[in-house]
Amino acid sequence: MTEPVVTAPAPGPWTTATVSGVRRPLPRTVQLRLDVAGRVDHLPGQHYVVRLTAEDGYTAQRSYSVASPPSDPLLELFVERLDDGEVSTHLADVVEPGDTFEVRGPIGGGFAWDGETPALLVGGGTGVVPLVAMVRHARATGREDLLRVAVSARTLAELPYADELQAAGAVVVLTREAHGIRPASRLTAVDLFPLWEEGQTAFVCGSAGFARTAGDLLVGLGFAPGSVKVEQFGPSGT
Ligand SMILES: Cc1cc2nc3c(=O)[nH]c(=O)nc-3n(C[C@H](O)[C@H](O)[C@H](O)COP(=O)(O)OP(=O)(O)OC[C@H]3O[C@@H](n4cnc5c(N)ncnc54)[C@H](O)[C@@H]3O)c2cc1C
Repeated sequence: MTEPVVTAPAPGPWTTATVSGVRRPLPRTVQLRLDVAGRVDHLPGQHYVVRLTAEDGYTAQRSYSVASPPSDPLLELFVERLDDGEVSTHLADVVEPGDTFEVRGPIGGGFAWDGETPALLVGGGTGVVPLVAMVRHARATGREDLLRVAVSARTLAELPYADELQAAGAVVVLTREAHGIRPASRLTAVDLFPLWEEGQTAFVCGSAGFARTAGDLLVGLGFAPGSVKVEQFGPSGT
């Protein structure tokens, strides 16, 4: 079967993002709503690079997935605060509405959903962020029928966008507590098998370990390796 061809937009130049809203929906996280000058419409799944510049000219840049759909006039990022993290601590602790910093995007055409073909979304922890953009886009275009979703976190309280994902019918797998009649456990093929449909592309996002495990499960279920798109949230310097 031929895979859908996704034509992703070329990233725009470095530009200014003005912080329009700051929320802390879960402990140790921050959700930023950004007004991006000259924003290029993204495809759900793509990410931006954030560049912070200190007064002495030192810069640090990191990648962050977009949680908002293309139809949202603002760009939404969801950042987990790492205690020893250079950029995530600044975004979580320091940034306030009205602040500005540089961004560049959208980036990552290999992990973009076209919005028109069936997809199985599998996310772990903050790896759900780009999948939320897909769920929101499907809702905005009335194509929720195209998506099947499975997400994993330690506890429900630590699952980003838990209400939205559950409303979208996501299978929720919790590793540290039971969820309904489902005991605490890791994601298994039994969770994913009922979500399979003909012609799906799978989008897997999370830590390196989660992404590897979920990708292996999907290939074990019969997905062609080329139809499993993987995004890893490891350390990123570019
Ligand atoms: C394509 C892409 C999309 C991403 N999207 C998101 C997103 O939507 N939300 C989000 O919170 N993060 C996301 N990340 C991760 C993000 O880019 C940073 O790596 C993360 O915020 C840590 O940056 P920092 O400067 O705070 O930590 P650093 O100063 O870079 O690192 C501090 C310490 O944490 C370790 N570390 C760095 N990154 C991670 C990580 N992701 N997980 C575990 N340990 C880590 C480092 O090895 C180091 O020991 C994404 C990464 C990529 C590549």
